[in-house]
Amino acid sequence: MAKADIGVVGLAVMGENLILNMESKGFTVACYNRTTSKVENFINGRAKGKNIIGAMSVEEFVDSLAKPRKVMIMVKAGKPVDMFIDQVLPLLDDGDIIIDGGNSHFPDTIRRMEYVESKGKLYIGTGVSGGEEGALTGPSIMPGGSPAAWEPVKPIFQKISAQTDEGEPCCDWVGQGGAGHFVKMVHNGIEYGDMQMICETYQMMKEGLGMSNEEMHDVFSEWNEGELDSYLIEITRDILGYKDEDGNAVVDLILDTAGQKGTGKWTAIAALDAGQPLTLIGEAVFARCLSALKEERVQAAKIINKQKSAFDGDKKQMIQDLRKALYASKIVSYAQGYQLMRAAAAEYGWDLNYGGIALMWRGGCIIRSAFLGKIKEAFENNPEIVNLLLDPFFKDAVESAQDSWRRVVTAAVNMGVPMPAMSSALSYFDGYSSERLPANLLQAQRDYFGAHTYERVDKPRGEFFHTNWTGRG
Ligand code: NAP
Repeated sequence: MAKADIGVVGLAVMGENLILNMESKGFTVACYNRTTSKVENFINGRAKGKNIIGAMSVEEFVDSLAKPRKVMIMVKAGKPVDMFIDQVLPLLDDGDIIIDGGNSHFPDTIRRMEYVESKGKLYIGTGVSGGEEGALTGPSIMPGGSPAAWEPVKPIFQKISAQTDEGEPCCDWVGQGGAGHFVKMVHNGIEYGDMQMICETYQMMKEGLGMSNEEMHDVFSEWNEGELDSYLIEITRDILGYKDEDGNAVVDLILDTAGQKGTGKWTAIAALDAGQPLTLIGEAVFARCLSALKEERVQAAKIINKQKSAFDGDKKQMIQDLRKALYASKIVSYAQGYQLMRAAAAEYGWDLNYGGIALMWRGGCIIRSAFLGKIKEAFENNPEIVNLLLDPFFKDAVESAQDSWRRVVTAAVNMGVPMPAMSSALSYFDGYSSERLPANLLQAQRDYFGAHTYERVDKPRGEFFHTNWTGRG
């Protein structure tokens, strides 16, 4: 058999499906797995009769690859990636390319790229989103790393990725170093935010408005036809409509404690490190943490007497308000996510392709939505835009949703329905659009107890003052 165009190591769900996707697009693919029985099972099973070469050792795997060799690692994130890099590096020639397609943390990718480049090889750290099905049928792919590695890898990645309705690949070069994994991390954080906002809307509908699953199913169906058209709205509709054999709504039987694998937390930490107000994603992560305190909540609910009023407004109007509030909050979440990417680009010297990132998320991944096309347009209209809320389209959208948004947050507060993500989005909107915030008082407090000094509105920036607040010497 001819040499393989690319090799994939790691025959778990992601690796196997990516290989089958690559092969279906006309590429010959080599594969290897630490437990080699999995190679045999794959070659004699799903890969049978296809242009897929099974290797029983790393040496055989490397030998089966056309040059420059492209070795894609799809193993468990963390130490296993470093271990495989150390195993394969001595067998590669200068200019060969190692690609990590797992969920690696971006500082690890920066470190690994420097290490691999110091040995004369090239490195790509790429986000791959869309789970098992995306890997097979077309994921969103976000590659970054050694710029010279992109040209050889591009034809493969752009062919196996999801394509937009306009036929554009949901894969493009993100930037140098750890940029690809950084953008994938922000994608995951945004996913946390989108999911949390939908859950808050669901709780308002269910507890606040007393809506049945069937009613909510119909509303989400309708919403999926408009500006909220997205994968997560679509699956929410399906989940609310799903019943088991006994006719029970499965969603009502699921324990209300959320799990997390940590990428939302990484995003929130990166935002804290960069000093960027990523409030919505932060709240979404904490909401999962609060949900996980199930036993404590059960006890607290018995002890604490919560004041809450019943909804006495117009239900139809409130459903419309919820749609607009969800949309406005979503705009804020993406505005915040892009602010974080802009800050990281400045810190790490990445030349990020912001419109291209929106396009990469347009298909194949969990946050795919019609709305991302508008973000791409915003960056096409003004590549230097500092915040999406300043783009004319998004500014109008948020401004015209304001009444609804405020009514929803007010109603949630009055009814005792927690709404951390959507209310924090509104607070961010109000803060970001405020010429003056109460940080003057905060600076005074800091100066009072710690002589931290302050700047004055009537003096040039950069001049610092201290007041002896107590008059004591
Ligand atoms: P996984 O369950 O994360 O990892 C299993 C694979 O890693 C197996 O091939 C296993 O080999 C290999 N492995 C584990 N430790 C190893 C070591 N020390 N040395 C060599 N190989 C080792 O697989 P996955 O779910 O397909 O995910 C692969 C990557 O994609 C991960 O980074 C994951 O976070 C990311 N990802 C997953 C999804 C998803 O939906 N699953 C979505 C996006 C991204 P053995 O068979 O020998 O144990």
